[in-house]
Amino acid sequence: LILYRARWVLPISTPPLPGGVVGVEGDSIMYVGPPEGAPSGATHDLGDAVLLPGLVNAHSHLELTVMRGFLEGLDFAGWIDRLWRSKKAVLDGGRMLDSARLGVMEGLIAGVTTFGDTASSAAPFHAMLEFGVRGIAFQEVFGPDPADADAAIADLGGRIDALAPLQTGEVRLGVSPHAPYTVSDALFRATARYATRAGLPIAVHIAESHVEQALVTAAGGVFAEGLRGRGISVEIRGRSPVELLARTGVLAARPLLIHCVQVDVDDLRLIAGGSTVAHCPVSNAKLGHGIAPIRELLDAGVAVGIGTDSVASNDRMHLLEEAHVASIAQSARLRQADVIPAREALQLATLGGARALHVDHLVGSLEVGKQADLTAFALDQLHAVPAQEPENLLVHSCRGQPASFVCVGGQVRVRDGRLQHFDPDVPRRVQGTADLLRQWLAQQS
Ligand SMILES: [Zn+2]
Repeated sequence: LILYRARWVLPISTPPLPGGVVGVEGDSIMYVGPPEGAPSGATHDLGDAVLLPGLVNAHSHLELTVMRGFLEGLDFAGWIDRLWRSKKAVLDGGRMLDSARLGVMEGLIAGVTTFGDTASSAAPFHAMLEFGVRGIAFQEVFGPDPADADAAIADLGGRIDALAPLQTGEVRLGVSPHAPYTVSDALFRATARYATRAGLPIAVHIAESHVEQALVTAAGGVFAEGLRGRGISVEIRGRSPVELLARTGVLAARPLLIHCVQVDVDDLRLIAGGSTVAHCPVSNAKLGHGIAPIRELLDAGVAVGIGTDSVASNDRMHLLEEAHVASIAQSARLRQADVIPAREALQLATLGGARALHVDHLVGSLEVGKQADLTAFALDQLHAVPAQEPENLLVHSCRGQPASFVCVGGQVRVRDGRLQHFDPDVPRRVQGTADLLRQWLAQQS
């Protein structure tokens, strides 16, 4: 048994413990409380630090880490177009795997221990297994032409069947019908049926942009033009993107809804019927989509987690930074201070994300019996002095700071601020792929 001690322990589900300890045996938490009542064991003193549950990134695209900074200065349709064409032209399996490895490394050093990742390849699934982190690898499915729905489901089923035997207690599979502008109603329906039958969780990008809204509610805009240009007929598909998901049976599969920026009160009611939400405030702001009504979603009882989205639209993967923006953006939107207090923002980055991914029985808070996924942030930095209250400090001062200690299921992944066990050549190889992306871009004009 190891006792981790820190200046503050934040269990999330209960109030902060000054000078508290967390007892870990094997992969599980055996004790959370003051040192006086702790069972005997070797003490690991994390010192002047805040110890809390491993952070949960409810939405990432680990395979796109190589695209950091590659999609600047584009409108949303242009952003997506360059992403797909360059990915197809340049990223093979090995390059995608290195890209995902770099993403997991960046996440770990930021204190992330659980990922809700959506990908068109199996690279993030393999990278998460390799680094011993926790996560759901949602396999994306695409097909805006209803005639292609059966083939798309057959392809998805093949990919799932190939990966299913490799699943562990930590890394599981899910499916993700990508978004309304890439998925027909027939394919939404078929994917929801498939997910329910296979018992797999489902995630979908929804209500992100105005152009998506225009496609769904008016059969117009740049996405509609693009689809018509490919010979695909476009009709009005619903009162709103969320309503489209209700009509096609996706909401009945209790999905993780990624974004939910363009939602109204009727949509809120539909979402509260069993869906969960991944809120990506930095990506939504950077791409010009707006600010999701997170306060209203939380008040409606929806489980909300925080996601970074891909670094191609962020450009960092740092959950504390994301929690900081989630908090202040709601205050800016509603013109009121403290709409999402630091304590609640931190809850979104931990237990909220775990609930959104349906893994809160395992992780998300420091409780006896849960998995020993722990993260610590040191307070020996100028920006952390003076220390008044640990939650405010983490969310509003320590954002962007690397974690000093991380363990997943009791296994140490970051010690003294240094990532353990990784191939030091990964960053160089990813830079090599990024250079190829640049060359590809130069050839396009
Ligand atoms: Zn995304």
